[in-house]
Amino acid sequence: MAIVLALPAALVVGADLALRGGRLLDLPLKYVGSYGVAVFESAVLWATLLGCASARQGWLRWLAAGLFVALATAAVGGQVYFYGQYATYLNLDATLFGASMGESLAAQLGADLPNVLTSSVPPLVAALALIWLGRRWVRTRRRTASLAAAAVPLVVAGALFIPCSYRSIQGSTPDVIYFHAVGGLLKRLAGVDETQHVRPQRRSPPRLGQLTGAVPVKRNVLLVLTEAVRADVTCPAHQAVCPVMPFTNEALPDRLPLHELRSTSSATAIQLAVLWTGLGPDAGRGPLHQAPTLFDYAHAAGWDTAYWSSHHPLFANTWLYVQDLPCRFLVSATHLDPTADVDLGADDELLTERVKVDLVQLQEPFFAMAHYGNTHVPYLIDETDAPFQPYGLSKAPADNETLRNLYLNAVYRQDRTIADLVRFVRGLPLSERTIILFTSDHAEQFREHGQLGHTGSVFDVEIHVPGWIDAPAGTLTETERAAIVRQARRPVFHSDLAPTLLDLMGLWQHPQLAAYQGAMVGDSLLRPTRDDRIVSLTNCAGVWGCAFENWGVMRGFRKVHAREWDQDWLCFDVASDRDELNPLANESCADLIAEAQRRFGSLPGRD
Ligand SMILES: [Zn+2]
Repeated sequence: MAIVLALPAALVVGADLALRGGRLLDLPLKYVGSYGVAVFESAVLWATLLGCASARQGWLRWLAAGLFVALATAAVGGQVYFYGQYATYLNLDATLFGASMGESLAAQLGADLPNVLTSSVPPLVAALALIWLGRRWVRTRRRTASLAAAAVPLVVAGALFIPCSYRSIQGSTPDVIYFHAVGGLLKRLAGVDETQHVRPQRRSPPRLGQLTGAVPVKRNVLLVLTEAVRADVTCPAHQAVCPVMPFTNEALPDRLPLHELRSTSSATAIQLAVLWTGLGPDAGRGPLHQAPTLFDYAHAAGWDTAYWSSHHPLFANTWLYVQDLPCRFLVSATHLDPTADVDLGADDELLTERVKVDLVQLQEPFFAMAHYGNTHVPYLIDETDAPFQPYGLSKAPADNETLRNLYLNAVYRQDRTIADLVRFVRGLPLSERTIILFTSDHAEQFREHGQLGHTGSVFDVEIHVPGWIDAPAGTLTETERAAIVRQARRPVFHSDLAPTLLDLMGLWQHPQLAAYQGAMVGDSLLRPTRDDRIVSLTNCAGVWGCAFENWGVMRGFRKVHAREWDQDWLCFDVASDRDELNPLANESCADLIAEAQRRFGSLPGRD
């Protein structure tokens, strides 16, 4: 009888071992203790419910049985599913983060419903079987069943509100982490806990006044930013065959490549702030909201400006950050399509059509930005022109390659419309004065390091992005062109793009901007860059709080970073180990580890 009652907790521990056996065996001693407490908590919870559900008679046993099956299915099924996506268990941070994403999260779970259900079937069957076993072998007597029933509210409340180890090491069983997360969410909903996840707010930049005496330049700048496109699926330089992005490859054969361009986070909101302000992602909430943006600088210098985006304005409040940009044209997904999907945004083809209409109305010189978005999950493809087969929507680990093909088809479809735009621009009389710069806000992981998507780490699969500059003859001086060519295979970062774009506008090192440019962390790629600078990488920033902490720093091709479950810093040389599979001894990165400690205070998840 006792064996049957202990069985649920044993099954949970078994499932946990099957999912993360290696990590469990490496648990530091103090977490062995917290794990033991969690096993006890799990055993008390399930034994109480099962004992009550195994009563010989009475209606309460049906209530307890229903609760037992529902909780077991939700907790174990939910954790198995979540672990398959993110290589970590759903915890309090993630539920609070998810609550702040609302509609977006519901849409993603809905889209992957078959896998959510598949993960839930085994625990559902096991729970039903345990009820059957309990009623056959345990057959709780009336008195004991009444005591158990009275204890149910207590043990459930305990599971919801007793603290547990859930963050970096996750030294608890998955069910205990799950109930703790639900309890925290309930506290948030009840207003007991009012901490908010960090999201972009309205900006409050200083008034720049009129900038005078800028170096006169006769060139327009068009920045094309896409979403979640990896460097390794694109062709920064022209290639004879470019399977995933063939259209821009053909349209701009003379573009100057930046093969080693990296973003400084894998979150859209953080990268917009970095690209626009030139600050590091770790600059803090105040500076990231108060610094002038490229649009502010351009506007103050008398340039015409535009920002067109197919991203949804309600996606994590990004519109708050955007709404005050001094732009003649300020367009987002709902302007293009009022029914746009919150994750995908409006159709990128609508964006291209809108840019074509507005661009010819801009006064020269102009600084304009077209921000594409359909390469975000759930990935918009053209089913009649999808060369990467077979493709599918499932996010199950076994379906990784079909999901990757879906993604490649989305990049391919988007490339067609971006090429449409750049061909249009290159056909205009202003083309000979217009420089086009292309990059992606970040890249996208397909489980190379156990995770899916972005914002989960700063591994290269999430931050190595495509980059190229298309500059018709006469738009750059010989020295400027030579400087960019020299950067083709050198490590450069998104934080270098604000200085570069300001330099293209003749505003880099403008005396009136000295204070702001002093805070910028990058170098203009039109000039020699510093080799020894250390660049911060983080997905936890003042414009965007992360579900799971991860950060690091990079100097040249050497890189140090960690996620909250990594036991120590990981040190890589990404020039020789491009997949980041062979960490170097920490001594090889001593300088970077010291700097990462100084900038971030600790390893991720150690507060
Ligand atoms: Zn993004």
